Amino acid sequence: MKVLIVGNGGREHALAWKLGMSPKVTKVFVAPGNAGTAIDATNVNIPVSDKAAIVKFAQDNEIALAVVGPEAPLVDGLVDDLENAGILTFGPSAAAAELEGSKVFCKNMLHTANIPTANYRAFRGGDDAMRYIKERYPEPGESAYVVVKADGLAAGKGVIVCSTNTEAFDAIQRICGDREFGDAGNELVIEERLIGQEASVLAITDGETIITLPAAQDHKPAYDGDKGPNTGGMGAYCPTPLIDEDMMQRVEEDVLVPIVHAMKRARRPFKGVLYAGLMMTAAGPKVLEFNVRFGDPECQPLLMRLKSDLFDILCAAARGRLSEIDSLEWDERPSLCVVMASEGYPGSYESGRKITGLDAADAIDDVKVFHAGTKMENGNVVNAGGRVLGVTAMGDSISLAKLQAYKAVKEIRWPGAWCRKDISDKAR
Ligand code: ATP
Repeated sequence: MKVLIVGNGGREHALAWKLGMSPKVTKVFVAPGNAGTAIDATNVNIPVSDKAAIVKFAQDNEIALAVVGPEAPLVDGLVDDLENAGILTFGPSAAAAELEGSKVFCKNMLHTANIPTANYRAFRGGDDAMRYIKERYPEPGESAYVVVKADGLAAGKGVIVCSTNTEAFDAIQRICGDREFGDAGNELVIEERLIGQEASVLAITDGETIITLPAAQDHKPAYDGDKGPNTGGMGAYCPTPLIDEDMMQRVEEDVLVPIVHAMKRARRPFKGVLYAGLMMTAAGPKVLEFNVRFGDPECQPLLMRLKSDLFDILCAAARGRLSEIDSLEWDERPSLCVVMASEGYPGSYESGRKITGLDAADAIDDVKVFHAGTKMENGNVVNAGGRVLGVTAMGDSISLAKLQAYKAVKEIRWPGAWCRKDISDKAR
């Protein structure tokens, strides 16, 4: 059976690699893909935004299952279009994807379902938001531990963590006055700033049954020790000791089950990957955000450990028959993904630089190099994005997985390549 994956990141390479292992899958297409998916699958030159061309390709090629990776086409309704054309598709409808597409909607759903989250207020326009900060923090330069968030998708950049009222005023000005994030800033959320470590709990659901995946931890800030600007994610490992069995049960009961039920009640049944971004506070886990898809890079270490047939799982979820899937089988060994990035990322970066050492890195035991921002140019793999590779490894312990991943990183070179050196150190 033929599978179509939509997207071009490390997540989509990992999905293509894993789905290609299913004995039921004869061919994996990735639209548009990258240099890595060109090796492990077949690339199709259609951008993720071209919904009509993706639907036509799926129909013409008798695609048995389509999987939509990134948030933008999910929020844009690609799943609805594919399903309306009769294609079995894994991923939420546009109505359900609003859980990630609108922070105001997400916070309102959290509130309705009584799920622990930071206290918040939603605003339409900057004046009320400015007034709110002025009333609560009247002194010049007064401490104000708040987070100001543009409502819509802003590639992780629309969230501004503040310590003073001056920073909060500035954040509101950027979102509402300067309109730095365009229409994504038509509404905004101001919420209490939470303290703790962050963890990601992902679950696959068909809107009724929920299968929780082992918890992972991402590393969003650019530099070691969680310093520097936020990125799309510089590495992840799984499982994380932050969430033991008891805590996982609590997250299922207090977060996952109530949100899936609330979405059903709101007539936006959720099917796909539900990703809870959690802050592990002294008062327990609180939801920072929901994503409506596999996290990138969490997807890479997760899928490396998955032993069950991913095709069966995703088809069952897409058909609303997830209850027919037995519990998932996982490799006991922990896994870890180190993201290698281009010079300048997360700011503007240079591209078109030749990457060497990929085969030597891949040849190391229990290592897989997933591509993200790469492409083929004159027979060479070159960098073509900010986050370029997700070097992923397994080991008998998290330390051994780390050793193995960084051994592979050392083999890979291109001018300006860099990565964090401390992925998983928070696990100790
Ligand atoms: P992305 O989609 O890239 O994951 P996003 O734009 O959806 O990001 P959030 O996940 O809501 O934004 O926030 C990004 C980061 O900001 C979080 O990972 C966390 O570090 C920080 N953050 C968000 N909300 C809070 C909060 N209430 N308290 C403390 N930190 C927060």
